[in-house]
Amino acid sequence: MSTRRSFITSSAAGLAALAASPSVEALSLPPAPAKGKPLVISTWDTGLAANLGAWKVLSKGGRALDAVEAGVMVTEASQNCCVGLGGNPDREGIVTLDACIMDEQFNCGSVAALERIKHPISVARRVMERTPHVMLVGEGAQQFAVAQGFPLEPQKLSPDAEQAYKEWLKTSQYKPVVNIENSGSKKQVGPVGGANNHDTIAMLAQDAQGNLSGSCTTSGMGFKMRGRLGDSPLIGSGLFVDNAVGAAAATGQGEDVIRIAGAHTVVELMRQGMAPKAACKAAIERVARIKGDKAKDIQVCFIAISAQGQHGAFALQKGFSYAVCDAQNQQQLIQAEYLLK
Ligand code: ASP
Repeated sequence: MSTRRSFITSSAAGLAALAASPSVEALSLPPAPAKGKPLVISTWDTGLAANLGAWKVLSKGGRALDAVEAGVMVTEASQNCCVGLGGNPDREGIVTLDACIMDEQFNCGSVAALERIKHPISVARRVMERTPHVMLVGEGAQQFAVAQGFPLEPQKLSPDAEQAYKEWLKTSQYKPVVNIENSGSKKQVGPVGGANNHDTIAMLAQDAQGNLSGSCTTSGMGFKMRGRLGDSPLIGSGLFVDNAVGAAAATGQGEDVIRIAGAHTVVELMRQGMAPKAACKAAIERVARIKGDKAKDIQVCFIAISAQGQHGAFALQKGFSYAVCDAQNQQQLIQAEYLLK
């Protein structure tokens, strides 16, 4: 198992979706193994670079589990993106991280409210593989990480997060802004509450053996209450994998994903015969019914892949995209359909 690796992003030269992203322009994707059909999908445009980290594993015939860890580590390590320690803090000014991971055999691990650790996804994997538990939180999660050899990073905000926090302190109003995960929006700071309010990458992969795995990592909603957890570290809400049926993951307003046990709901809808996109849509419709008029103030998005290797997504509002990487199409960024027109 890997822990402290750094990943160099690569891409298929000339692909339109990548052309705008200088950090992923330079190299070509290695060819996929001929007999398998590996696939990786992930949330938002930041998923393009993350997918390439995953693809390095999948294209060599590696395990989906290794791919989904390696993939989101790219995003966690990036200070340009607000997943990981570069993320926005809670309202006390402290960055707290949540992550979970799940493999093809219902093994799962999770950390929540973890501070000063660069790769929460790798700690989540250690929880899964080296403890009798599924979830560790806060101080205990940090103690475990340190005991496992993860360095304790300085308690320091990134320059962007520091600026966003200072701006937020002017009003101290908690008012999440939808679709802020798109990297083009990262630098915005809104007039009330700040725009950099939530940041997540969720990733699902199928390897050449046909096995599924998923990962999810986030700094959570920016300027959240101290101690607040969202859906992202919760198996069944932010992420769920059933190798016989499919895998699903969520991003957006975590509270409303939790309300419907989102990722699990999507997988159960696929079990009933729905294709990934239809299952994501049905789950979004459930959120919309519950929220009524308030649905327009939030964003919730699901991505899913089926055991047969189909993929799909659906969002409550306009503006959600997901990145897909497979041997046929290589990289593409797909604008998801949405409910509220
Ligand atoms: N779902 C995450 C949370 O509620 C935030 C996000 O996806 O942007 O913490």
